[in-house]
Amino acid sequence: KLWEGLGYYSRVRNLHRAAVMIEDDYGGVMPGKSRELLALPGIGPYTAAAIASIAFGEAVPAVDGNLLRVYARQTLCKASLKDPKTKKEATSWYQERIPKDRPGAWNQALMDLGATICLPNGAPHCDLCPVSDTCRAHLAGCEESVPVPDVKKPRRVENRTVLILTCGEYVVLKKRPEKGLLAGLYEFPNIEGSSDLKTFLDAAGLCPVFAGIPLPAAKHVFTHIEWHMTGIQCEVRVQDAERFEDTGCFLAGRTQLDSTYSIPSAFSAYRRLV
Ligand code: SF4
Repeated sequence: KLWEGLGYYSRVRNLHRAAVMIEDDYGGVMPGKSRELLALPGIGPYTAAAIASIAFGEAVPAVDGNLLRVYARQTLCKASLKDPKTKKEATSWYQERIPKDRPGAWNQALMDLGATICLPNGAPHCDLCPVSDTCRAHLAGCEESVPVPDVKKPRRVENRTVLILTCGEYVVLKKRPEKGLLAGLYEFPNIEGSSDLKTFLDAAGLCPVFAGIPLPAAKHVFTHIEWHMTGIQCEVRVQDAERFEDTGCFLAGRTQLDSTYSIPSAFSAYRRLV
């Protein structure tokens, strides 16, 4: 609930799971090897290498977007940087070059090089670059066309109808699945496509007290998906408690929406109407 609206929900869950693992498996002390860090929930190869090299001095390259771009220009690599094979090759290339004595400083210097000199958009500042003499893209005069940009996939659009179903002082909520988008958070029941309130209410063992009122459209943009929403508000009563429970829906007190249940900001346009 405290994290509501801040996004990165799976990140905070992983953070908690990792903290529990560190307490249980390492006596509350953060492990220092990249291999051990990689086994913690939410820590991928980049983060593991960054922590291990910067905080514990292990000679492992922390390959982020900056290092990938520098790699592509240094080696004149024209493959997609999104391809896992490219990342693997870049990691091996850096692994052969990382110094044993100051790996953390080396990783950070490369990140800074990528962020301030070997820029992603626009011309890189090759005249200021300390490694320009080994840069194949610069020597070939094509640094601005490497790396080759990926064709951006358009976001998938999902049309949804959000149902604000009130029952006196209560509102109908549902918990989202534990995996996937907005995992484990609470939501107002919503159906894909245009409204089919009657079918939903029948299936959920609910009965309308008044006719549904259409609510304004709203849009929420996730990284890969866009929700285009419309809404319906309807006062209901529970007619078949068993069927209602089977749908995974439940009645939450309106005040509990502030104190107990995390409603993702994707629903904020409708949340404020309750
Ligand atoms: S010479 Fe230019 S393109 Fe090559 S690594 Fe340096 S800044 Fe990047």
